[in-house]
Amino acid sequence: MKIYEYVIKKPSITSPYGYRIHPISKTKKFHYGLDLVSKAGDKNFYAIDDGYVQKVVTGQDKSTTGYGNYIWVRYPRYDLSLLHAHCSKVFLKKGDKVKKDDKVAYMGATGAATGPHLHLGMTRIGSNTWLNPANYDMLDDSGKYNLTRLLKKGCKGNDVRELQRELIKRGYSVGKCGVDGIFGKDVLSATKKFQKDQHIASDGVVGVNTAHKLGWLYKNK
Ligand SMILES: [Zn+2]
Repeated sequence: MKIYEYVIKKPSITSPYGYRIHPISKTKKFHYGLDLVSKAGDKNFYAIDDGYVQKVVTGQDKSTTGYGNYIWVRYPRYDLSLLHAHCSKVFLKKGDKVKKDDKVAYMGATGAATGPHLHLGMTRIGSNTWLNPANYDMLDDSGKYNLTRLLKKGCKGNDVRELQRELIKRGYSVGKCGVDGIFGKDVLSATKKFQKDQHIASDGVVGVNTAHKLGWLYKNK
């Protein structure tokens, strides 16, 4: 399943990614996203995974971007940011966490739009390079480990065992005790090395970013 088929139910692409004659300016321009409507008539846009809101702009109907009301949501496990533009309503604010299936925004025709549709833009997190959303698939959730608390030095339990297995699998030594379910100093230094190699905060605490880098879902409340 494609990511855009999850964002909007039963989508129909009204304008693909690439060169086109712009519907308003009538000139040849590159279209850095997909324009979508829903054949199901569902005008909500849905979160594809655990993530968080990076940016919301509303009340800028005449903005130079032409996006109208828009929202960017970041999905760490995918390393993708999604732009939802021309919204009539945005349900979230900057910094909000989202879970898979949460409603993100509602379709509209704000900004430079000739009718209600979703303009879906996509980049890697922190990148300015547009990607074609038609090329990206949903990740498989089955068998993904759900982390339900922060893991740090002193923690004990099966979730620590899971972490030790993941670290070993990736070539990090967790000490001579192996998979013992105890977050000691060797697990701490292995976690810090892993975080450093992944270019995330190397604090030795396994939270949302580290969980996502391990391919886990983070389900902490
Ligand atoms: Zn568009």
